[in-house]
Amino acid sequence: MSENIPITVAHGDGIGPEIMDATLRIILEAGARVDIEEIEIGEKVYLRGNTAGIEPSAWESLRRTKVFLKAPITTPQGGGYKSLNVTARKTLGLYANIRPVISYYPYVKTKHPVMDLVIVRENEEDLYAGIEHRQTEQVYQCLKLISRPGSEKIVRYAFEYAKNNDRKKVTCFMKDNIMKMTDGLFHKVFDEIGEEYPDIEKESWIIDIGAAKMASSPENFDVLVMENLYGDILSDVAAQMSGSVGLAGSANVGEQCSMFEAIHGSAPRRANQNLANPSGLLLGAVLMLVHIGQGDIATKVHNAWMKTLEDGIHTYDIFKPDTSKVKVGTKEFADAVIQRLGEIPKTLKPAQYKAQVEYKQQPFEKTKGRKSVKDLVGIDVFIDWNFGTSLDLGELMKKVTTEHLELQVISNRGIKVWPGKAFENFCSDHWSCRFMGKNKEKPITHHQIIELLTKIYDAGFDFIKTEHLYDFNGEAGYTLAQGQ
Ligand code: NAD
Repeated sequence: MSENIPITVAHGDGIGPEIMDATLRIILEAGARVDIEEIEIGEKVYLRGNTAGIEPSAWESLRRTKVFLKAPITTPQGGGYKSLNVTARKTLGLYANIRPVISYYPYVKTKHPVMDLVIVRENEEDLYAGIEHRQTEQVYQCLKLISRPGSEKIVRYAFEYAKNNDRKKVTCFMKDNIMKMTDGLFHKVFDEIGEEYPDIEKESWIIDIGAAKMASSPENFDVLVMENLYGDILSDVAAQMSGSVGLAGSANVGEQCSMFEAIHGSAPRRANQNLANPSGLLLGAVLMLVHIGQGDIATKVHNAWMKTLEDGIHTYDIFKPDTSKVKVGTKEFADAVIQRLGEIPKTLKPAQYKAQVEYKQQPFEKTKGRKSVKDLVGIDVFIDWNFGTSLDLGELMKKVTTEHLELQVISNRGIKVWPGKAFENFCSDHWSCRFMGKNKEKPITHHQIIELLTKIYDAGFDFIKTEHLYDFNGEAGYTLAQGQ
């Protein structure tokens, strides 16, 4: 028998303490080999004036145990309180969010009786870096940053997950018909890394049609991998399709630490009434047991839980007169699962987890070995200007040339508006003026850009940001404006 694994546990707020008690009781009765360290997080900590909702001593425990079983917490209303989930994700480097979504029909009502998929969501990058700026009276921006190492990490995780869990297919969702560079990179990395897994079927869909397909025939999907925002939305859609958001657990996995939880919140109105369904957190704990190499216990817990559902013992949220037999509270539901430890479901597909092969992060040799020739070839100068038409601006800006740089195109909201005839559609006060090097054979320099910006400023323009235009090994590292 292996030795106990230390885990950090937080009971959270609202229904958190009740569902955590139920979950711990079940996994310990099932024989989970864990030593529990408790920490306090959430509302009480926030209201003590700690805007992060977590004390330094709690981080110390998390860094030591590296495994976090977390009940939902309440984030107090009002400004200034930081989301603990986001803080934990960023501080602990939890780059992968794993959400298995299974349909438990007919015991849980759903339009999709056959559904057994896993969404692997990138958890650190994309629009969630939260880099936003207001640049003009009319225009705000949010930067979408996608890195090659970040994409490689999550895509490799998805393939390793599929391999270790006997999954047959990995599907990538992205939108690279529009975001050719960011989503294009994600897609390219998916194709490259996919080649290393010849036994796993690969497929990719543009997210809009892919999401529609997932919503109409989830039985055709197995493991799905996607960027942060798409994964955030689709993992909730998938959980709702399976019949209840209240039943899903999720794992947030990093290279060092991992966090396991239910996907629902602290449901304050249901707190302290022995009403809440502990299933989401329990299934989060099942993921944790698999992660710490106790697949035997995970199998026992998941099967006993399914047998309880089959026997019609249901909490209020999934109770239906036609399929349910007894309406129970949180404690009684946990008792019923404990009584069934060792049993397997009769109609639902029994769970069978392997003791997880430890996931090893591959070194990013491709990235490290990569060194492109990077040439600065031009610059997009964004200006705040609201004094006329695109033709007026073109006439004024055309005069701003230097020995090395000349105006090539002006665009507004990504559409080319100059040169050409008068642009008829709406233009905002946020214009991008693209200046390219005159000598195509020779890269430009930062000094030449400073000279250009000085001229633009002296001509009376308010430049609000610049984006350098680079070629990488001769290939443009920037897109053209629509219509250019
Ligand atoms: P919620 O998930 O708490 O509740 C949504 C609905 O589902 C409510 O009707 C609730 O009664 C029901 N519900 C949720 N879990 C249930 C369970 N286990 N059993 C039975 N019914 C359940 O979402 P909300 O109301 O939007 O948020 C409440 C609080 O939770 C907020 O403070 C929010 O910030 C927080 N929250 C925390 C987390 C987290 O800690 N991971 C996630 C989401 C929301």
